Amino acid sequence: MALSPEKPALQKPALQVLLCSPRGFCAGLVRAIESVERALALYGPPVYVRHEIVHNRCVVESLRAKGAIFVEELDEVPDTGAPIIFSAHGVPRSVPEEAVRRNLFALDATCPLVTKVHRAAEIHYRRGREIVLIGHAGHPEVIGTMGQLPSGSVSLIESLAGAATFSPRDSNKLGYVTQTTLSVHDTAEIIALLKRRFPAIVGSPKEDICYATTNRQQAVKRVAPIVDAMIVVGAPNSSNSQRLKEVAERAGCPHAALLQRAAAIDWNEFAAIARLGITAGASAPEVLVEEIIDAFAQRYAVSVETVSAAEEGVFFPLPRPLREIQAAE
Ligand code: SF4
Repeated sequence: MALSPEKPALQKPALQVLLCSPRGFCAGLVRAIESVERALALYGPPVYVRHEIVHNRCVVESLRAKGAIFVEELDEVPDTGAPIIFSAHGVPRSVPEEAVRRNLFALDATCPLVTKVHRAAEIHYRRGREIVLIGHAGHPEVIGTMGQLPSGSVSLIESLAGAATFSPRDSNKLGYVTQTTLSVHDTAEIIALLKRRFPAIVGSPKEDICYATTNRQQAVKRVAPIVDAMIVVGAPNSSNSQRLKEVAERAGCPHAALLQRAAAIDWNEFAAIARLGITAGASAPEVLVEEIIDAFAQRYAVSVETVSAAEEGVFFPLPRPLREIQAAE
């Protein structure tokens, strides 16, 4: 019997993936996650965590499976001596005060770069300045920074329009700080407007937007103009991930999407593309980036190239109690 010739396999279209570097986890979130894992290992479950330790469902679920219990407020924590960890976003001053009052075993995983903003706001306050915080209402970091000082001493400005209409008590006694995860571009515009309107306003000697936010936006700016579409791996409530999507759009990317998992890919949006940019917010683990590349590899002949905007070697030691036990072992 003559064998029929084999049908040629359907060729997948080629897709070049440009991976932004740096992307994903920052030093502050690595420290926060390790704090929870370390506390679980040292003290055993349960370990209470105030607010999602990072804005990423995968990370939160995996810590929950190991015995972390996420709460929104301290009144959900029983007086059992179990540790309570404050998230990387920082907390209002009233929270550690309440923990001391109740004699709770509190571990503060606030990112040192957020703490730096808290200290800068305090310095403005001690020098008698009204403080402008540039940031997004309702974000945990903003709630934490505003909560460092008495109510009414910090005014929140969210946009250029807000900066244009802001009316201070005394324009010669003004200081500003910013949220760490803002758009570098938008924040520079807001600060420039405030400086034009209030030439005596005093800022931080060093930028408040953190290195991780700046570097991830820089990498997106390089990749976005030369790809057909861009995926930002991150959660909708992650501020720095939202900003990465905006930066991609502003840099000229025809289509940018913020996705948590490969299952969320709308394939109609990514049909007929030849070049795809991928980045990840500071709270997104690399395994999710790999999952998305694998999903594209099912449909495309994928080649991956990394586009680097900065090298990062930032490391923050664990909160002191966890560090001291670690050192003693
Ligand atoms: S995004 Fe920046 S400020 Fe926020 S936790 Fe990471 S390093 Fe710290």
